[in-house]
Amino acid sequence: MAFAQSSMESFYSSDPVFRMAVKQFEVLADHLEIPQQYRQRIIQPKRSVTVSLPIELDDGRVEVYHGYRVQHHLSIGPTKGGTRFSPRLTLGESAALSVWMSWKCALVGLPYGGAKGGVAVDPNKLSRREMEKLSRRYMQEMIPFVGPRTDIMGPDMGTNAQVMAWFMDTYSMHAGHAVPEIVTGKPVAIGGVAGRRESTGRGVVFLVERALDHLNIEPAKCTAIVQGFGNVGSVTACGLAYRSGMKITGLSDHTVCLYDPKGLDVSAADRHVQEHKTLKEFPQGERVKPEDFLTLPCDVLVPAAVERVIHASNAALLRCRVLAEAANGPTTPEADELLDQRREEIFVIPDVLCNAGGVITSYFEWVQDMQSLFWTDIEMTDRLYRILDTAFNAVSKRSKERNVSNRTAAMAIGIERVLEAKRDRGLFP
Ligand code: GLU
Repeated sequence: MAFAQSSMESFYSSDPVFRMAVKQFEVLADHLEIPQQYRQRIIQPKRSVTVSLPIELDDGRVEVYHGYRVQHHLSIGPTKGGTRFSPRLTLGESAALSVWMSWKCALVGLPYGGAKGGVAVDPNKLSRREMEKLSRRYMQEMIPFVGPRTDIMGPDMGTNAQVMAWFMDTYSMHAGHAVPEIVTGKPVAIGGVAGRRESTGRGVVFLVERALDHLNIEPAKCTAIVQGFGNVGSVTACGLAYRSGMKITGLSDHTVCLYDPKGLDVSAADRHVQEHKTLKEFPQGERVKPEDFLTLPCDVLVPAAVERVIHASNAALLRCRVLAEAANGPTTPEADELLDQRREEIFVIPDVLCNAGGVITSYFEWVQDMQSLFWTDIEMTDRLYRILDTAFNAVSKRSKERNVSNRTAAMAIGIERVLEAKRDRGLFP
């Protein structure tokens, strides 16, 4: 590929997650016959920032953490995306996640490019005071690079409404007035919207039901396995159990994988995690090896944790009817080829569609903050489901008409929109 020789490539190319995002794009660029002159312009992130964050810990030691922010493209508006606190976060992973945010936003018609970033830290090892210091210091260092019209942060793995509130406060103190529109996923009292935390999982449940309807399968007769029990996994599991009436036969987090063909009590698991932080001691289900968990039989399989969990070694072994990708990048391109051969057996709801409910609701929050005019919950839910429904229909239609996978269809719609914007704007100067 031409961009393999690019000097820009060197920033991120050593990272396997970024290489995966590039590989996916190459496949799509060939499929869409995108001229070479546009390829690098589309895939290479526009800006990236790395910062070092010295924090005084509770015991008096000073620890320096690494923080990142990557803004993928600024062709149609500000960039948008989550802030992740995760021990394995790298610049390359942030870049890959920013690229996926771009396709996601374009697919569902939001006027944003993608962004992503965060801090390489295990948030479970920090006290609340240390979390606050790190969050404030991160935003402080980011002030020259972000803004309500430049780059708007939101929550992601390891962050929550409280972290967003610290970001908002730090930015606002610098500005000298409240700037709620600088972040989304804030508490309602400072310009957040009700249901942002639940919105990604709600979107996943809506789309799973939509897919089952498309396949003529009754949700109440289905079993589901959910990998990951954070914001997205827990809300999805509850929704599939109590809204769709499914039997949840598998639940997991980073400490344990639980399986019970007779069904697990999701609300008990939720209460357990609120009290004990993890599922480790949850007294239900058989303990299963992580490498066997995703290949257990079920109707609906929901990876809702990290990237690259479905790969060349397990894709052919999946035993689900619907694969709902609630996580970002859970399926490698090699696995995708195998899933493509199983298109009749497994209906994939690709990540850029499946988890878009979160950023759509963030967009609603940003619009309302910018206008200081707030909508009702019903208006928001209604708009969310309408956008997801339109995107689902567009993906299904394109997949059928062009005989391509749902992922190819979804990414093609997103990438074409970015390409069109770049074409319309032309090159400056
Ligand atoms: N973390 C969310 C995602 O991966 C988006 C965060 C936001 O709302 O900006 O889609």
